[in-house]
Amino acid sequence: MSQVYNFSAGPAVLPKEVLQQAAEEMLDWHGSGMSVMEMSHRGKEFISIYEAAVRDLRELLAVPANYKILFMQGGGIGQNAIIPMNLVGLKTQPATVDFILTGSWSGKSFKEAKKYCNANLAATAEDSKFTAIPARDSWRLSKDAAYVHICTNETIDGIEFQDAPDVAADTGGAPIVADMSSHILSRAVDVSKYGVIFGGAQKNIGPAGVTVVIVREDLLGHALPICPSAFNWKLVAEADSMYNTPPTYGIYIAGLVFQWLKRNGGVAAMEQRNIEKANLLYGYLDSTEFYINRVDNSCRSRMNVPFYLRDESLNEAFLAGAKERRLLQLKGHKSVGGMRASIYNAMPIEGVTALIDYLKDFEKKHG
Ligand SMILES: *Cc1c(COP(=O)(O)O)cnc(C)c1O
Repeated sequence: MSQVYNFSAGPAVLPKEVLQQAAEEMLDWHGSGMSVMEMSHRGKEFISIYEAAVRDLRELLAVPANYKILFMQGGGIGQNAIIPMNLVGLKTQPATVDFILTGSWSGKSFKEAKKYCNANLAATAEDSKFTAIPARDSWRLSKDAAYVHICTNETIDGIEFQDAPDVAADTGGAPIVADMSSHILSRAVDVSKYGVIFGGAQKNIGPAGVTVVIVREDLLGHALPICPSAFNWKLVAEADSMYNTPPTYGIYIAGLVFQWLKRNGGVAAMEQRNIEKANLLYGYLDSTEFYINRVDNSCRSRMNVPFYLRDESLNEAFLAGAKERRLLQLKGHKSVGGMRASIYNAMPIEGVTALIDYLKDFEKKHG
């Protein structure tokens, strides 16, 4: 099989070694005679897989002891409802929740939350057409918000927070809930600055179907009575993510990815590699008039790099030529058009240089 580079935004590229290991263990996991898919989630084999995954994720992100790590189902979009149902009970009803709108994903979260609370648009990047994060001192926060919702990496718009907001200075004491779906484990993060971190696995962790929720313990136990039990974080935490049957195979693959990260120097080493990859790609895009990236330098995503051909009539030819070179899934999200290269942890630097070589050659031919 010839080398393919998959730039999909998600489900996305996984480390080849992880897929190889999963293939080797497919029919007989560690002499158990069973595939992981066939195991009881309450048996000692799967419990050992689950415990290692939680332990490794805790170590990789330096998750403090007063935070629970949950593996749930329902995806990031599911959490858009699950989060308010679990947190608005921190305040008397109807509670207010502040949203910082930086792109498509925070927009979706805002819209869904309206079913459960007074969702307040505290800041929006709409004026900049979602190319910059609104300055912290422009956030118009509510006096008594249950929490402040942000999306720290907007997968479609290519905007990324470069640091965590400060609860004391930036959110008036309200806990921060952060959607980190598309950049979790790509950079160091100070978990203690957040009340909740959540993300679907299919961008930077593993296969679709697993949702990671990291939640501070004092935020458990405030669910609204209407919250489905399987989505009540407290019940899920008390049952070690086994209140209902968890997505066992997805957790196993995520665990292999965590081991791969540890073997490769952990999050700090990944971050260095991700900086290098992003600098190469943005550096090239900025060096030419042929391609355009509109996102402000201060908040360009290291994971998702949207770009446009100045002459958009060449889009189809660009994608066809890329496919011939085995550079896959470069088409931008349908809501914004253009192109997008997602360069998650598992994208090797060789994939980025192959893409840049192609960008150069295409420009030479059509520029
Ligand atoms: C992909 C993505 C989601 C949605 O995840 P689903 O698993 O489709 O629900 C949410 N937030 C962000 C930032 C994403 O990139």
